[in-house]
Amino acid sequence: LFSIPDGVRQVLGRLTGLGFEAHLVGGCVRDLLMGREPHDFDVATSALPEQVKCALCGLRVIETGLRHGTVTALAGGQAVEVTTYRVDGGYSDGRHPDSVRFTDELTQDLARRDFTVNAMALSPKGELVDPFGGRDDLGRRLLRAVGEPAHRFEEDALRILRALRFGSVLGFAIEADTARAVHECRALLERVSAERIAAELVRLLCGQDAREILLEYPDVLGVFVPELLPMVGFEQRSKYHLYDVYTHTVEALAAVRPVPVLRLSLLLHDVGKPETFTLGRDGAGHFYGHALRGSEMARDILRRLRFDNETVDTVCELILSHDIPIERSERAVRRWLGRLGEKRLRLLLEVKRADNAAHAPGVSSRAQQLDEVESILARVLEQGACFCLRDLAVKGGDLIALGIPPGPGLGALLQKLLDAVIEGRCQNERDVLLGYAEELRSQTP
Ligand code: ATP
Ligand code: MG
Repeated sequence: LFSIPDGVRQVLGRLTGLGFEAHLVGGCVRDLLMGREPHDFDVATSALPEQVKCALCGLRVIETGLRHGTVTALAGGQAVEVTTYRVDGGYSDGRHPDSVRFTDELTQDLARRDFTVNAMALSPKGELVDPFGGRDDLGRRLLRAVGEPAHRFEEDALRILRALRFGSVLGFAIEADTARAVHECRALLERVSAERIAAELVRLLCGQDAREILLEYPDVLGVFVPELLPMVGFEQRSKYHLYDVYTHTVEALAAVRPVPVLRLSLLLHDVGKPETFTLGRDGAGHFYGHALRGSEMARDILRRLRFDNETVDTVCELILSHDIPIERSERAVRRWLGRLGEKRLRLLLEVKRADNAAHAPGVSSRAQQLDEVESILARVLEQGACFCLRDLAVKGGDLIALGIPPGPGLGALLQKLLDAVIEGRCQNERDVLLGYAEELRSQTP
């Protein structure tokens, strides 16, 4: 009936063969019912952890969380998490259960789960166990907390953000009582670690309904990114903008591919606007310095959320550059390539397109300009043009051989040679560049 991988069936069979109950539970059941491919399979069983280890002997088993009753089995190339039915004890830190107690009742295990669509089980014979109406909610595309929503969020505040993440990724509406509790309990998110917040945020931003969720829950995001709050309702009063800064941000975000750096860049691209608007506007109608301020703020925000350096640097660079026009000439494109490299320049073009798409319709001529930049870029790359030190026909060693001492002066000279190549003043040929280097050196005392 459902396509369950052989390895998973094998694990279920080992347990039931010994007389234990074993069910698929949680996200994989939800995904199977929706016709989506589960990315992991979780099994819940009445067997105690030691009994699970016995039942699985001969298979490779990793004791991932034996204390919480979880072992991971590797069967047929498939990792299967097997967890003993359990009831969570009190939650005094608002995030982790103080203790877990094993039980032989599947329903109790399902009751500790977060949302009805995540609280169903499937027996090896394909019978659905659904004590909280998960299947109906799935049919209505509704995300509903199991039990009293506020109580469940007080137990574990991460569930607040999981609600938004599932709403976005599955494209489900959040049921009214659950939604109210998400708003009311949002401050509890302060207890959740930055790493967990960041992981959920990225999934939320990349979900199919990110737009709807972001428009509905800026107050929740504002708990861990308070910098977003002044953007809400902040009018830009310019002929270029249809929306306040926050709505524009969300529209732009939804217009870019669901790739973490891109979605993060769009989320934060205008975060500097509210602070800098008093500085006035430049000729293009942009607030002076907002991109610079925005990239500083983004660095702060992303570091706080413990994003990796590559993500932080990329996002900040994209924000810093997002409002600078790209001149449509080969020389300008080579200069941009020199500054950002090919990968980031391509990302920047995507950011600009999405930003542009979320402006007033009259701005669509900019889309055409971006098309032109893109074809110039293709041409420049095809020519194999040099735009970074790595591609320069002269290396540091060549200059040292000319008698130039290693050090900052050498680096600066190489950069000057590169600039000359990018500007088209010098060909990227060894002899030409060495000649030019001599010339430059004779000019500077
Ligand atoms: P996905 O794997 O797509 O992220 P999932 O539903 O499998 O979605 P997991 O984080 O893998 O989510 O968790 C597996 C299951 O464990 C969930 O479906 C849910 O039943 C339960 N669960 C996970 N985290 C929590 C939590 N914080 N509170 C309550 N139940 C949870
Ligand atoms: Mg899962």
